[in-house]
Amino acid sequence: MNEKLLRKFANLAVKVGVNIKEGQLLVVNAPVECYDFVRLIVEEAYKAKAGNVVVKWNDAVTSKQYYLNVSDDVLKEIPDHIVKQGQYFVEKNGAFLSIASPNPGLMSDVNPMKMMIAQKAANEKMSFLRKYTMSNGGQWTVIAAPNYEWAKKVFPDAKFSEVVDKLWDAILAASRVREDNDPVQEWTEHMERLAAHNKKLNEYNFQKLNFKNDLGTDLEVKLVENHIWGGGGEIAQNGVYFAPNIPTEETFSMPHKDGVNGKVVSTKPLNYSGKLIEGFWLEFKDGKVVKYHADKEEDALKSLLELDEGSSRLGEVALISHDSPISNTNILFYNTLFDENASCHLALGNAYTMNIKDGHKLSEEELIKKGYNKSMTHVDFMFGSADMKVIGTTQDGKEVTVFEKGNFVF
Ligand code: ZN
Ligand code: ZN
Repeated sequence: MNEKLLRKFANLAVKVGVNIKEGQLLVVNAPVECYDFVRLIVEEAYKAKAGNVVVKWNDAVTSKQYYLNVSDDVLKEIPDHIVKQGQYFVEKNGAFLSIASPNPGLMSDVNPMKMMIAQKAANEKMSFLRKYTMSNGGQWTVIAAPNYEWAKKVFPDAKFSEVVDKLWDAILAASRVREDNDPVQEWTEHMERLAAHNKKLNEYNFQKLNFKNDLGTDLEVKLVENHIWGGGGEIAQNGVYFAPNIPTEETFSMPHKDGVNGKVVSTKPLNYSGKLIEGFWLEFKDGKVVKYHADKEEDALKSLLELDEGSSRLGEVALISHDSPISNTNILFYNTLFDENASCHLALGNAYTMNIKDGHKLSEEELIKKGYNKSMTHVDFMFGSADMKVIGTTQDGKEVTVFEKGNFVF
């Protein structure tokens, strides 16, 4: 892959993604497969005057061996030094740059209960770290890099020698990194456009949204009072403007955890814990999933829905025009970072405190009383389609068309 382009991408992640500040700690969560790209990120981060760059390497194949072989007691153990390291990152007000490089289907022969036990333990001991990022305590961003297995899944017919580069091309195009542009400049303008969309939706201040299409989605989503539409850039609690996702096309807000009713039919497969859940639908009553079905990997869907009380309720509703750059590539990436930006989506699990007025200041009990959903997970799934119709209802009962034929009307 062209190093000049990769360096542009690394620079974009550092400058726009986390927008690293002079002297600040940067934590990079990196898969071992893309070590060469990670080295470029480290270089660009120091060039941008990061105080310290800590790379935390991960390897999905090693993790799989762990889940297959260790006892439940080991799965439940979170060593103190891991907790202490997390505390150190928070104390230093570190910025987090995570590189997603999923391996779809890798975990299909791992018992989902094993992963659930480990996730539960990690979330109990490490919840402070999740809270830090979910409430924008410091800047954070998620970008993606390819690996062979992922690339093969996306481009099954491509030649062995070309498949990884093909996925790089798609990732860079979706991330607005090209030979002939200044990605930092283009991203600044893109984030301004998204901010204008949010402003319009915030002015409407809808009490609820109704989604309908021919696939069978007929869903009413009540929004919490004083909800805020966000997306694109965000301001961390330290005052720094950053982009949590590269790419991003979404504008999203907070559903009321008890106010979702009807049926939603997914339009893309969901890669959850290494399993690919396909052809699924969910039926909600008063916010909770009461019925569901998946053509494939229904057990994985079940384990997600039964993870905790909040994992069968919604924590996010996101609007994206069907006619978007990622959706127009017509590539199924098998990864939410891309696929969620191709289509309207919902998330099961934890809500974002940024999506409600004074969300960072309210206690958890106060938030929950207002309809905030609490869970140890947050899993996005797509349901947008070319024929999606969305109607918003204002506080005084007026109906406003938001989406016609899959796209924003304003
Ligand atoms: Zn989203
Ligand atoms: Zn989400």
